[in-house]
Amino acid sequence: MTDLLSLTPDAARDALGDWLAVRALPAYRLKQVLPRLWQRPVRRWPDASDLPADLRGALDEAFALTALQLVTRQVSSDGTEKFLWKLADGEMIESVLIPEGKRRTLCISSQAGCALGCVFCATGQMGFRRNLSAAEIASQVRELILLDPEQKPTNVVFMGMGEPLLNWGAVDTTLTILNHPDGFGIGARHITVSTVGILPHLARFARRAEQFRLAVSLHSPTPAGRLALMPIEKKYKLPDLLQALTAFRRRVTFEYVLIAGKNDTPEDADRLATLAAPLGALVNLLPLHPGGAPGLTPSPRSQMLAFERRLKSKGVEAVLRRSRGLDISAACGQLRVEVETRRKVRPQEHAHVE
Ligand code: SAH
Ligand code: SF4
Repeated sequence: MTDLLSLTPDAARDALGDWLAVRALPAYRLKQVLPRLWQRPVRRWPDASDLPADLRGALDEAFALTALQLVTRQVSSDGTEKFLWKLADGEMIESVLIPEGKRRTLCISSQAGCALGCVFCATGQMGFRRNLSAAEIASQVRELILLDPEQKPTNVVFMGMGEPLLNWGAVDTTLTILNHPDGFGIGARHITVSTVGILPHLARFARRAEQFRLAVSLHSPTPAGRLALMPIEKKYKLPDLLQALTAFRRRVTFEYVLIAGKNDTPEDADRLATLAAPLGALVNLLPLHPGGAPGLTPSPRSQMLAFERRLKSKGVEAVLRRSRGLDISAACGQLRVEVETRRKVRPQEHAHVE
């Protein structure tokens, strides 16, 4: 059965057009059916009450619509909401909705778990479960609209569970679904992919014509410091990553989690400034959230502020981010689904690195 929700809107239009033609149904039906995938979504075809009953029934038989089952929805005291979804095979993923003024940013997952085992990250600690399909990734937005059309996110960030560039095929399609006018119609500048820097796929991302934003998780300005925090440094090395970013024609954001005694000295700030300045990169400084390896502690607030000031004094644009949703474990890097029934796998055992 064709999974329309895993196709780009253009491919879904073709598939539906062919299907209507084979049944000798009028072509104008396409204009009624296609918007029910993403623009004005229905959970099930029978809910599309503007369509004749026999067409609804036939669509229902031909095209099952991927659904995420909402398991829990928690609201933080600061308005951040966390959604736990169950997939058809029982795997679980999370999304986080962060309201800020008129903006509603949805932080989505691209994989169940993550193979890369960054020491500070809760998702990394749970290991890799599987890749998500484009339908499963984009449906995190779809389900929110189904719950309440007013809730449609204005911004989407791939900062939930998983490494998006290790699931490039599905993420590539999802970017089109998010941005396309027949999809969710979210502006490319409001869509951010966050990655540790999987170089072959970074190049593919860079080749996309739309102005999608790129965030690179740096976390240390030296190869040795980075290796101590992020095993991926073994495979894709900092100098090569920086080289790749020089060729990237759009502005990059560096994500930098401040961890006491690991990456937060004035020398680290100076080295980071020498990397960020020539690229014109914006540096997002993130307080460490709990959930990663034990023994890591956030940098003291005064040190974080000093780090930010030092970057700024070198002409680098830096922002110390507030923690959001901490009370419901909804902050970036805190997303982790406890899998009770199956053996926990260690990240290294599933290193699906290319
Ligand atoms: N795998 C991708 C995207 C998901 S992680 C990546 O690593 O970029 C999204 C962001 O959360 C990354 O910048 C990551 O470094 C950050 N993060 C992970 N663990 C964190 C923690 N314990 N505290 C704060 N941020 C964390
Ligand atoms: Fe995976 Fe990103 Fe977490 Fe590293 S920080 S383990 S790449 S989700």
